[in-house]
Amino acid sequence: ARRFILVKNFEDIPKETDLQLVEEELPALKDGQFLSEAVYLSVDPYMRAYSHQLREGITMIGSQVAKIVQSRNKDFPVGKYVVGDFGWRTHTISDGNIANVYVNTITPYLLPDIGDLPHSLALGTLGMPGNTAYFGFLEVCKPKPGETVVVTGAGGAVGSHVGQIAKIRGCRVIGITGSDEKCNWIKSLGFDHAINYKTVNLHTALAEAAPRGIDCYFDNVGGEVSSIIIQHMNEFGRISVCGSISSYNSDIRNLPKATVIQPSVVFQQLEMKGFLVTHWNHRWMEGIKQNLQWIQEGRLKYKETVTEGFENMTKAFISLLTGENLGKAIVKV
Ligand code: NDP
Repeated sequence: ARRFILVKNFEDIPKETDLQLVEEELPALKDGQFLSEAVYLSVDPYMRAYSHQLREGITMIGSQVAKIVQSRNKDFPVGKYVVGDFGWRTHTISDGNIANVYVNTITPYLLPDIGDLPHSLALGTLGMPGNTAYFGFLEVCKPKPGETVVVTGAGGAVGSHVGQIAKIRGCRVIGITGSDEKCNWIKSLGFDHAINYKTVNLHTALAEAAPRGIDCYFDNVGGEVSSIIIQHMNEFGRISVCGSISSYNSDIRNLPKATVIQPSVVFQQLEMKGFLVTHWNHRWMEGIKQNLQWIQEGRLKYKETVTEGFENMTKAFISLLTGENLGKAIVKV
């Protein structure tokens, strides 16, 4: 078995030397336990966002889809696939309870029946990011048909999904992302406008794309990009604060500067709400079922950027934080 240990807490963009790949011998199973073998692992922005809470020496945190290869637990039989927050490891012994103590997380569950779709989707569209899009957008933004929705991180796992749900709900959708390739992809998904925040003046681009203002903003990035978007919002607009990746690689003492947003929040009477997807743990399967149905109906598309080889986990993680992924970033063992 192999696992990655966090040997040095991250500063700025993580470095390959911050994590170390080690071999380990696993003990025999006890009653109530099962052994699973990772098939796909996820790299996610929260791994960087939460890093200040992580202790050096721990197995790096993260979720995976794994095949159960031995079992002394009748709820987790051999041959089935399990989705769990087992960390960056190839083999896991689990008793079916929550494994990591650092992040507000979910208990391991058997992969639901998703037909012929790839199992990796359980880490993306049919898993945590998919539920983030489903609950975080619909429950917080409460979009109405005809409204204008802006989503940032629009070429990524959550953002590309939010934009498509907004289209399903009859909204006009503007996606903001960091490359022309991502802009072309989200337009092919049905986004009405795609803006590359690295190459345009965002004020001008928003004035053109949303001449009647913005009603809902799904915020994945925070920072100045979000401050500018919020200044274009209509009265009684809703902001779902999902993430702030523009600040994750910064120390608390050198956070990126952003324009003050309170005047817009007050005078436009905006509602701004942060959330963690685990808030909807009790409705987890509802999100997965709805997203699965939309995929089967051809109304929800996805892309994955798959890195081959467990040994390349750190590379995949760094690429995610530097924006190289299109859709969900996945590692295939
Ligand atoms: P993505 O697939 O969107 O990957 C991250 C993307 O963020 C990159 O591809 C890059 O795209 C963009 N990015 C990186 N650095 C910056 C920057 N400085 N400014 C703006 N964009 C940047 O990841 P996810 O879809 O998994 O996550 C998206 C967001 O959702 C994150 O903030 C994450 O923390 C949050 N999240 C929150 C959850 C919750 O419960 N609240 C649950 C899951 C995710 P680009 O080329 O466009 O710059």
